[in-house]
Amino acid sequence: MRDPNVRIPLPAVVSRLLGGLRRAGFTAYVVGGCVRDSLMGRTPGDWDICTSARPEEIRRVFSSCRQILTGEKHGTVAVIVGGVPYEITTYRLDGEYHDGRHPDAVRFVPDIRQDLARRDLTINAMAYAPGEGLVDAFGGRADLQAGIIRCVGDPAQRFAEDALRILRTLRFAAQLDFTLNSATEAAAYAARGTVAQISAERIFAELDKLLAGPAAGRVLAAQGRILTGVIPEIAPCIGCTQPGKWHCYDVWQHTAKAVEALDVTGMDEKSTRVLRWAVFLHDIAKPECRTVGPDGAAHFPGHNQRGGRMARTILTRLKAPAYLIEGACGLISVHDCPLPNDRFGILQMMNRSGAPFLQRLCRVKRADLAAHANNAAVENRTREVRRFESRVLELSATACYTLSSLAVNGSDLMAAGVAPGPAVGRTLNELLQAVMAQRVPNEKAALLAELPAILKEQQS
Ligand code: ATP
Ligand code: MG
Repeated sequence: MRDPNVRIPLPAVVSRLLGGLRRAGFTAYVVGGCVRDSLMGRTPGDWDICTSARPEEIRRVFSSCRQILTGEKHGTVAVIVGGVPYEITTYRLDGEYHDGRHPDAVRFVPDIRQDLARRDLTINAMAYAPGEGLVDAFGGRADLQAGIIRCVGDPAQRFAEDALRILRTLRFAAQLDFTLNSATEAAAYAARGTVAQISAERIFAELDKLLAGPAAGRVLAAQGRILTGVIPEIAPCIGCTQPGKWHCYDVWQHTAKAVEALDVTGMDEKSTRVLRWAVFLHDIAKPECRTVGPDGAAHFPGHNQRGGRMARTILTRLKAPAYLIEGACGLISVHDCPLPNDRFGILQMMNRSGAPFLQRLCRVKRADLAAHANNAAVENRTREVRRFESRVLELSATACYTLSSLAVNGSDLMAAGVAPGPAVGRTLNELLQAVMAQRVPNEKAALLAELPAILKEQQS
């Protein structure tokens, strides 16, 4: 179906590329994500072009431009204009899929419609060219307006061809805040086990985008059972009840709410990713640790540490980057720990864990608590976390809690007569403790004046 009335403003370079192909006698369109994003009023990340020209013809039309030919076998030539590569791909059909991952071969076709039919979702299967308007053969625009994620064609077959599409379906639902069409949802659930064929890196990349989507929490809540195909550890969380005064959700719904509640404002990119994964997996060990007390309340002893270990297994399996594994598992292992409220206790914790870690921990705790029952006990805890958080912020700017900010160092101590060796480190630590406890100001003279007493104590 064509709609000549649709107008999408194209970057000048993209118009020139389409014009070049058309003047050479070929048809050409922008296609896929850029059309979807433009119709939604979003700025596309990149502009993909498809054309009836064969790769060698594309190369000839743009022979004056630099080109990248690594995708030529699949019909893609990247033409570089102003340092930016633009992918131009010949209309194609994917050949037979025998492994649910790679088409065995691609076949070039003359008609855009056939090219659109091989694409995964209706909202990703639209093309546009100036003067011609929108080519929307599968109802993509209506689905876009209604907020529906729907496979092009028979979803069971499309997922059997390429299992990554199952995760793309959930990822787009989370990114766009869309709902799965029921046939697509049922087929994704039925095929969930096939996702295991996909490479860990690609699974991780899709899950990572899913978790970063504004509707991640809602998609997790609704579609967790599809995700059990990639992370089987999720299955026992679904329906794992948490009787008692603290909770109003089962473990999985609680997790989904916590992901939704996570506040990452002001966090850098790495911290943000660490936090998202930490919150996503923070209670993954609860089903294995569940006990019910005589009062009928559920307890989950050891679920922090065990959760940290399980998260490490999961993230390692997914080949997540090392900083993410370390960061997320470190947080999960202590996510439920009590927080001190006295100055010395807070400084000791800052000394052991570092202020950045504690700032992340507080984000996890707040997200976790926001997904608890709504009562005074939970509100109290949330207030305690916020108080701790602002104390950490304040103290990290004003207080001394590390050896490196102590007003004396090892050489100062040795110059003052402390014997080289382990005594130096021990003495520095004692001085730091004294400064943290506000028994001594963090000033060189005052600290050196403490030395005789400390050394005497050490000798006794
Ligand atoms: P993004 O904003 O994430 O880049 P996108 O829609 O551009 O979104 P890409 O992964 O860049 O997604 O793919 C470009 C287009 O190629 C898609 O819009 C879709 O038409 C098609 N496509 C990508 N992956 C698949 C797949 N696994 N199966 C079928 N079609 C696909
Ligand atoms: Mg893209």
